[in-house]
Amino acid sequence: MRVAIVSLSSCLGCQMVFLSLEEYLFTLINENNVIHAPFIMDSKEQPEAELVLVEGAVRNGDDYRKAKAVREKAERVVAMGTCACHGGVQGLANTFSAERLMRRRYEAGASFDGEPQLIDRLLPLDSYIGVDAYLPGCPPPLGLFRTFLEFALAGTLPSREGSSVCSECDVSGIPLPQPGPRRTTAGAPQAGKCLLEQGYLCMGPLTRDGCGANCVSELAIPCSGCRGPSNDVLCRGAVDPQGETIRRLARATGKNPREVQEAIADPAHAFFRYCLAEPLLRRRRPGGTAPYMYRLGERE
Ligand code: SF4
Ligand code: SF4
Repeated sequence: MRVAIVSLSSCLGCQMVFLSLEEYLFTLINENNVIHAPFIMDSKEQPEAELVLVEGAVRNGDDYRKAKAVREKAERVVAMGTCACHGGVQGLANTFSAERLMRRRYEAGASFDGEPQLIDRLLPLDSYIGVDAYLPGCPPPLGLFRTFLEFALAGTLPSREGSSVCSECDVSGIPLPQPGPRRTTAGAPQAGKCLLEQGYLCMGPLTRDGCGANCVSELAIPCSGCRGPSNDVLCRGAVDPQGETIRRLARATGKNPREVQEAIADPAHAFFRYCLAEPLLRRRRPGGTAPYMYRLGERE
């Protein structure tokens, strides 16, 4: 099977996972025809391929043209990583207009002649081309990536139903109420106890599982949502990630939801760090990402 990896606007972190496959990468190269992978081989043109893994989001005109070419030349397209699946951390830039972004980064007087035109609003890959399978994660967990590849190379594109990170998290409850909302900079959470119940903002209940929940169960680091929204959030009409998390935190801390909301300084970053560009969430009312999208360009 001919396999290709294509990068749109990205940090190349998803391709690093490809390299982390170690000996399986050699098996992959020996048994299949890896014909295009900019990070590990020198090939400029996008060739025709049976399986194309696309990392990154459509941020500018070049990305758009590349994505269209992928769809024309690929039998099956996989959105690899949370940028391709939901816009990823880059989607946070949607709180600024394209013009303001460029001015903020390069200041007045910079010339962009010959550079690809920035698309005003970053969107995930499937907003532009048909996608056959999704493998979210920032980057996708190594084990999951390998299993995915094994299935895909055997001819089936796996689709996981996707529960939440809480379903994989091995922690116990704690007597409530607890102080909060708290930030990890103000003190480390207690290991082995639910971080949300300790008053930390943990996105585990709304985030897709598959990572093994190591951050939360083993390292006591609150889940930031890097695998993107769970199916429940994406498919059930009424789930509002912000409101839902605030309600849970209010219950854990014994505070009024409004008080909790006011204590969270940057809600777009806190609740939608990896999925602000996800159109399925943007349509939600109330909450969702809509209030931030309407404020395009207001933050400086
Ligand atoms: S999903 Fe994460 S690791 Fe992959 S390209 Fe985007 S930012 Fe990088
Ligand atoms: S620590 Fe986070 S992921 Fe684990 S059970 Fe609590 S809310 Fe869920």
